[in-house]
Amino acid sequence: MSSNQCINGARLWQSIMEMAKIDALPGGGCGRLTLTDGDLEARALFNRWCEDAGCTVTYDRLGNMFARREGRELDALPIAIGSHLDTQPHGGKFDGVYGVLAGLEVVRTLNDLGLETDAPIEIVNWTNEEGARFAPAMLCSGVYAGLFDLEFALSREDADGKRFGDELARIGYAGSEPCGAHRFGAFLEAHIEQGPVLERHDEVIGVVTGGQGQRWYDVTVTGRDAHSGSTPMPGRRDALVSAARMIQEVQRIALAYGPDGVGTVGALQVSPNSRNTIPGEVRFTIDFRHPDDALLSGMDNAIRRAALEEQEAWVALDMIWHNPPVKFDEVCIDAIETAAKDIGQPWRRMVSGAGHDACQLARKVPAAMVFVPCRDGLSHNEGEWAEPDHLEAGCNVLLQAALTLSKQMAPVT
Ligand SMILES: [Zn+2]
Repeated sequence: MSSNQCINGARLWQSIMEMAKIDALPGGGCGRLTLTDGDLEARALFNRWCEDAGCTVTYDRLGNMFARREGRELDALPIAIGSHLDTQPHGGKFDGVYGVLAGLEVVRTLNDLGLETDAPIEIVNWTNEEGARFAPAMLCSGVYAGLFDLEFALSREDADGKRFGDELARIGYAGSEPCGAHRFGAFLEAHIEQGPVLERHDEVIGVVTGGQGQRWYDVTVTGRDAHSGSTPMPGRRDALVSAARMIQEVQRIALAYGPDGVGTVGALQVSPNSRNTIPGEVRFTIDFRHPDDALLSGMDNAIRRAALEEQEAWVALDMIWHNPPVKFDEVCIDAIETAAKDIGQPWRRMVSGAGHDACQLARKVPAAMVFVPCRDGLSHNEGEWAEPDHLEAGCNVLLQAALTLSKQMAPVT
């Protein structure tokens, strides 16, 4: 890498800190839910910065924002760089924001260097990545990629019954361009890892090769309500005892499919939830994840077998979601890996544990991601922290990868 082709780490940091003032929380984080007044303020600031950097800003019907810096080849598809500006209710300063403002820093650097790229560069802010206000997460990148339809997105409601479409119109970001019509040659996303792997290995760059697959289940265990004093132990049909065995199975299966497999029971309801009644019904959730779809199927088989073998109560498994693993594009991965080697920081190839906009996009557009460490792997927490040097390194990787890809993207014929 030529040493004069470096981003300005101090400027990137200042921009992240400036953005973090919008909907700042006392504990140092941000609570900037999507399509709120705070989101509007964040969008306006981002819009102003992009226009100051010479970009043309447009947005589509779901308010996804695209800031374009033209390239030499007017008909080449743009290399897009982005993430999201919305946060969790008690979110941090970096989740999502880093990926958007790293894209801006790439553009600002290209301006400083007077560099014209072959393909245009676009910075993207995806609406409602977090899903904290309007479920599900990654909603608008999902519509873009064809995983959800437009009406589904517009009709989502928050806890107060406010519709996504109405709130989008209220903040003035319901554009006219159909969602998904805006074409990219490639999409790159930089993000804090939100896990401990890079930090544990003293590495600075994660070259992300894909996202893991997920299977989500609603489980209903049906036994029989009965008196806790007068019902002998033999012959009881205690739904909670069966549920407890199933939860241990989830743990056992995840460990057997480790280290990549993970399994979680995050919610449980006991009925009638009374001290002196044997529980007649228990409902709980299972979240299984694995980067290999065949092994994720193995986890599925194992939990189904356990459900059939359970004697005390009847276990019904309803798989409500199967999101297959996503593999990122080899050309994009190579561009990121080469850049990581060039900047001379320790790096590793890895799979993303969390879902990201890039995982949705990859179903439609060549995509890949760059991870940087975050302290203690902590995210979705006000204490989320990333070192300025690491953010700078990740952004330099983005710059080099975008320059490589910009040359490789052939003009559209
Ligand atoms: Zn994020």
